[in-house]
Amino acid sequence: MLLILDMQILPPPRPAGRPFFDGLSENMCLSYGMRTAIYPGSFDPVTNGHLDLVHRAAKLFDRVIVAVAQNESKKGLFTLPERVALVKKAIVDIPRVEVDSFDGLLVNYVESQQGLAIIRGLRAVSDFEFEFQLALMNRKLNGRVETIFMMPKETYTFLSSRIIKEIAALGGNVECFVPEHVRTALALKFKLQTEQMIKRKDG
Ligand code: ADP
Repeated sequence: MLLILDMQILPPPRPAGRPFFDGLSENMCLSYGMRTAIYPGSFDPVTNGHLDLVHRAAKLFDRVIVAVAQNESKKGLFTLPERVALVKKAIVDIPRVEVDSFDGLLVNYVESQQGLAIIRGLRAVSDFEFEFQLALMNRKLNGRVETIFMMPKETYTFLSSRIIKEIAALGGNVECFVPEHVRTALALKFKLQTEQMIKRKDG
């Protein structure tokens, strides 16, 4: 009897020869018991610290969405489409990881993706207060969504997008901290900014 009951709640068999979520609708993913986590942030730009966390989250969840925030309040270096494109290239070889962008309340976005959890990084004690506040507020807004904190490899604990931008702006080498294509994008961005500054001065 138990067996029959079990069989009744089983979803239809998975299509053969396809990754688990490839081509399946979100509802289908849910019925297959897909566990989705959302990793939100500015990613301005994505660093090896972010990617370390993505790898860790991908081991725990069936589907991880790196959700790039529109973030009107923060004046970023890269535009939203640029940030998304940089993440997209960085995660291309990591299975079960996707990139998306979102605007508005994070918990609403998580709900729209049937996400179970929000992934956030804790690098040092200094991150804790803000992240704690954010997690509790998100829980108040939507009690169904959990926040999971993950720690990167020690070598990335001092790494932030802000520091990377500062080093790159001063012509420093960021090779060990970001993927190659991000390094190129930073060099190009600061070259353009310098050229624009020179033009403005000359004009
Ligand atoms: P936000 O504007 O949301 O802080 P960030 O892109 O700076 O966006 O960070 C997104 C998330 O990634 C945050 O939870 C942050 O703590 C985490 N994070 C940023 N840099 C690192 C890193 N080097 N190692 C681990 N987590 C990180």
